[in-house]
Amino acid sequence: MGAGSKQTGFAMERGRAVLAAPLLALAHWALPPRCPGCAEPVEADHRFCGPCWGQLRFLDTLGCTGCGMPLGGLSGRCGACLADPPRHAGVYAAVAYGPIARELPIRLKHGGRIGVAETMAGPMARRMPPGADLLIPVPLHRWRLWRRGFNQAVLIGEGVSRRSGVPMARQVLQRVRATPLLRGLSPKQRRAAVTAAFRVTDPAAVKGRHVVLVDDVYTTGATAGACVRVLLAAGAASVAILCWARVIEGAGD
Ligand SMILES: [Zn+2]
Ligand SMILES: [Zn+2]
Repeated sequence: MGAGSKQTGFAMERGRAVLAAPLLALAHWALPPRCPGCAEPVEADHRFCGPCWGQLRFLDTLGCTGCGMPLGGLSGRCGACLADPPRHAGVYAAVAYGPIARELPIRLKHGGRIGVAETMAGPMARRMPPGADLLIPVPLHRWRLWRRGFNQAVLIGEGVSRRSGVPMARQVLQRVRATPLLRGLSPKQRRAAVTAAFRVTDPAAVKGRHVVLVDDVYTTGATAGACVRVLLAAGAASVAILCWARVIEGAGD
């Protein structure tokens, strides 16, 4: 796909939390429009080709009142939420995780196609949880930020913020540890270990706020769940999760 040669535009920006806006625009401008799902040329930015579009499953119904999981037209709560009520205020995803949906975060994170963040932000902004008043991106640990050069959740969050008017606070939640080793730990110990990786730097900024945590993909919910616990402990009124794609099959957190 030749993505490697296209990364040079922002390689020198590595280590900085966010790309400078003019550089972002330049990198974006320099790349020809390609389908975010398969990289075939398309007529305009942020457009999918026909086959990819046909394979995307957009999630627009409310689903489970606990987590937003589609319930096939039924109302109420899914089995997982009945058994173990979530502490978050819902998971709002633009699309179901699948072969095409999965390509966008991969192109963004590993292919350096930063314009893909905007492609994801559009449908995500339309899924904004009601009453939201602050966006917070899931943070990366410092060394991962250094290696990648950007936090994909920040880039996506900026696009969502611009479209929705909901402000984003990108420094309030920090990842103080890299992913801990979880082998040999009980579920409860795992949860504690992941939660200890996050810290709220400014509790006053989240106190009483209806926070929306922004991430690219929601899979097991372990990382997002840790962020939710830390934000609630810091005084947030509620924390919902907004993501591009969520895993639907094999539900359960
Ligand atoms: Zn395509
Ligand atoms: Zn549920």
